[in-house]
Amino acid sequence: MTQFKKGDRVLISCISSCGKCEYCRRGMYSHCTTGGWILGNTIDGTQAEYVRIPHADTSLYPIPDGTDEDALVMLSDILPTGFECGVLNGKVQPGASVAIVGAGPVGLAALLTAQFYSPAELIVIDLDENRLEAAKRFGATKTVKATGQEAKQQLLQLTENKGVDTAIEAVGIPATFELCQEIVAAGGIIANIGVHGVKADLHLEKLWSHNIAITTRLVDTVTTPMLLKTVRSGKIDPKKLITHRFKLDAILDAYDTFSKAADTQALKVIIEAA
Ligand SMILES: [Zn+2]
Repeated sequence: MTQFKKGDRVLISCISSCGKCEYCRRGMYSHCTTGGWILGNTIDGTQAEYVRIPHADTSLYPIPDGTDEDALVMLSDILPTGFECGVLNGKVQPGASVAIVGAGPVGLAALLTAQFYSPAELIVIDLDENRLEAAKRFGATKTVKATGQEAKQQLLQLTENKGVDTAIEAVGIPATFELCQEIVAAGGIIANIGVHGVKADLHLEKLWSHNIAITTRLVDTVTTPMLLKTVRSGKIDPKKLITHRFKLDAILDAYDTFSKAADTQALKVIIEAA
């Protein structure tokens, strides 16, 4: 390792990249042939006092003095995920209409970063009242507390029956991916963020003539340096996603709290090593 020395404070990206392979050279760190999404997936993750980070020189980011480190925890994964997979892939434009299906932490990260582009409408769809309230605080212009056909009807009413230019899927189940197909406007984009475990129907019999694009992506964290600047300058404040904090030795309580988010109103939970 040549880029960092003992005592440096660093941001650990959720994606490890060698910086040299074909995919890394294309900025597709997520598919690095000797890295990618390995932390917490194919090797141990980072909820520990000490961790070994593969390709550390090209997978860590120095933390500038005076930067809020709690806010930066959101930059390891959810902020670049919401931004790259949802906002960038969804080509959010000034004056455009955007729907975010799912107001979990990643959906809210998409909500925060979509505002870089000043869309006219930012509509968040979820069933959890607390999360919809959070969405309003974080910049949603409207919220829809419904699912399925009811959500579709309400969304269409809010958009003069046109649907939205960008429909961001931030849940990862068939019902929400299908809802995105129902609410995307002609010429629009469905930007999938959700991690899907089962097959979902694709209604080409409706979409074939509607000039729709569907995008998928594993976050590359290629925007982390840019996002770091926006946090430092106060353009966005991802710290407001943090609702709870626990010491490392109470980590089971932390998981319990997060798994009962509807009751605990948990969004992001900080684990403190010491
Ligand atoms: Zn690589």
